[in-house]
Amino acid sequence: MKRMFSKAVSAGIAKPAVSTPGAASVYSGVSNPASTAVSAGRLIADLRSDTVTVPTVEMRNAMANALVGDDVYVEDPTVIDLENLVASISGHQAAIFCASGTMTNQLGIRSLLHSPPYSIVADARSHIYCYEASGVAHHSQALIIPVSPENGVSHLTADAIAKHFIIDDDVHHAPTKVICLENTLAGEIFPYAELVKIRKLATDHNIKLHLDGARLWNASAATGVSIKEYCSLFDTVSLCLSKGLGAPVGSVLVSDPATIKRARHYRKIFGGGWRQAGLLAAAGIYAITHQFPRMHIDHENAKRLAEGLGALGFKITRKPETNMVWFDTESRGLTPDAIQAVLAENGVRISGGRNAGECRWVVHHQVPKEAVEHILKVLEDNFGIAAVSAQSA
Ligand SMILES: *Cc1c(COP(=O)(O)O)cnc(C)c1O
Repeated sequence: MKRMFSKAVSAGIAKPAVSTPGAASVYSGVSNPASTAVSAGRLIADLRSDTVTVPTVEMRNAMANALVGDDVYVEDPTVIDLENLVASISGHQAAIFCASGTMTNQLGIRSLLHSPPYSIVADARSHIYCYEASGVAHHSQALIIPVSPENGVSHLTADAIAKHFIIDDDVHHAPTKVICLENTLAGEIFPYAELVKIRKLATDHNIKLHLDGARLWNASAATGVSIKEYCSLFDTVSLCLSKGLGAPVGSVLVSDPATIKRARHYRKIFGGGWRQAGLLAAAGIYAITHQFPRMHIDHENAKRLAEGLGALGFKITRKPETNMVWFDTESRGLTPDAIQAVLAENGVRISGGRNAGECRWVVHHQVPKEAVEHILKVLEDNFGIAAVSAQSA
């Protein structure tokens, strides 16, 4: 059937002026919130997550100037550009742009599975298992077999997976059809050599491999292993644009054309078909081309933060390999709430504690070096040795 409006779609819209991008956000879209926010007495930095970034003026300009069309017709030129860009970066042949990383994980898994009963193996700490509202049960009718890392390592191994997956044809069982991995997980990098072993295990047993690569950008920036090298080991990969890359919305699923065709169909079932999504895709393209190359700076800032916390006597509980710093407040006889209150008074937002006094602080491009130094100074002033001895004097 001929579509009526195909000629008009990519003509673009009138370009609005974007000198003042609106004050809806805490940072008002400034490139470097630290310098301006301090003097205004407002938020200096928000370390609750790397999802809290807001688009910079430059990103908003890219969005405002994007050509758009109807993406359900596969006619939005900017969405097509983004999908081609991510496909080529990943070395896969096809890609689909979606609203969230949850959606691209769910679509990836759903598209790799065919007819139940079946199971998938995932890390017991993974987003897919813990934080997607049982989406795999809901959308894919699959049993998740959660597997915990063994022998003191921080990641799954081929051996651990092989102990738990189901490869027999006993009618009582749900055979494993997909293994899901996550990189980074809690900011930690999955060793490439182990990924290669798991790929071999999966291939040997005709099992598909999905990667939740919400923060694969961080892993790649930290290790120098390219996105393409990582993605070559997987059948489907979900890559988020709205975490450390700093786009406001979106995630991309990459795979082969047949799998992406299935994903496009399921996306429509999920209600995720969208129209002039090119505005968002433009932010994604900007994020990949401008933010990804500077991501190592976030990792340097996270390391500096971890060093500073260590010097203040806090126990660092996980290796600060990328953009997350995990530490224990009880090692200094403090609670996360006490630290949160002091930082809040000084313009810094952090999350409350997790497991018994453990904190997770996340560094991103709107936590510049100056903000890290500011945080360490506030902590030193309030909880440093001089502060503690003054209190006890
Ligand atoms: C954030 C995240 C996702 C996706 O989250 P959305 O909020 O749905 O975009 C998936 N996996 C991991 C590991 C994440 O951190």
